[in-house]
Amino acid sequence: MKREYSQIAEGIVRVECGLYRPGLVACYLLRSGDQLAFIDTGTAHTVPTLLHLLQSLGCRPEQVDYVIPTHVHLDHAGGVGDLMRACPGAKLVVHPKGAPHLIDPQRLEAGAKTVYGEEAFLRDFGALQPVPADRVIAAEDGQTLRLGDRVLRIFHTPGHANHHICIFDEQTAGLFSGDSLGVSYKVLAGARGPWLFAPTTPVAFDPEAWERTIDRLMALEPETLYLTHYGPFAPSPASIQGLRLSIRAFAEIALAEEKLPVQGRRARLEAAVATYLLGLAEAQGCSLSESHIRDWLAVDILLNAQGLEVWLARRAKRAGQSPSAGAPPQPVESP
Ligand SMILES: [Zn+2]
Repeated sequence: MKREYSQIAEGIVRVECGLYRPGLVACYLLRSGDQLAFIDTGTAHTVPTLLHLLQSLGCRPEQVDYVIPTHVHLDHAGGVGDLMRACPGAKLVVHPKGAPHLIDPQRLEAGAKTVYGEEAFLRDFGALQPVPADRVIAAEDGQTLRLGDRVLRIFHTPGHANHHICIFDEQTAGLFSGDSLGVSYKVLAGARGPWLFAPTTPVAFDPEAWERTIDRLMALEPETLYLTHYGPFAPSPASIQGLRLSIRAFAEIALAEEKLPVQGRRARLEAAVATYLLGLAEAQGCSLSESHIRDWLAVDILLNAQGLEVWLARRAKRAGQSPSAGAPPQPVESP
């Protein structure tokens, strides 16, 4: 297989999606007999790689039964429209709240263009294609799908996004967790092993719901987490506790802002998020230089700060205060 793919377990292939740099975004192909499913898709630019993978396995696009984005952020679902066009027998399985945005992706695309600018959006993500509504399964919490011998159980998992689902493969006790059980870049693993942190990406960070989601998912006793960012991860009590602590720490970083003027908020949040993540890398024994770690985490630092800012604005609105003067434009969703 080419470097973009690696078989990581029986019938599970990890695909490098090619967004920004290798090691940042993965998606997965599941196989059971002749039947196939993609979990997450990367961006529209990833789709040729996915089709090439099918070819290299001696499979046809017609064998793909399901395309299952864990949520409709574009690093996970940007390629859905193109992939569904290429796989005529596939059903799209998505959270009911995400379904309308993939059936008519205009708002999603407009939101992403607000965040990235049109040129960078098209360069990095590519245009979004609509999916016919009659090919969409709006997945209910607890719903099961059959893929050959495999039973896939779907869970609604709010916290990172309110349109997030996770997919549990009963055969291998593997959990395709999207972003619900955090992010762990292999390159930042230190002497004390790999570590997880919470991506608080706009626009629906919800720390309390997120901790309940973690309880629920860990009660399944997954043996392996298949993270979108990045790859298989063996969960330990310490790593899951680290994920919880990061959710609490990010919430605290944001709440400290409620006493401060809105002026300068974004920069302060970015600085605090960066300091926290650098501290985690160091505590974990990561041997990379500080500038190298910062470089790896640059997008996460930016998106976490943006997501916390949006969360603060939502809290202020709920509390009946005037919407924060410094609140960023709120796209429907951004990656
Ligand atoms: Zn993501």
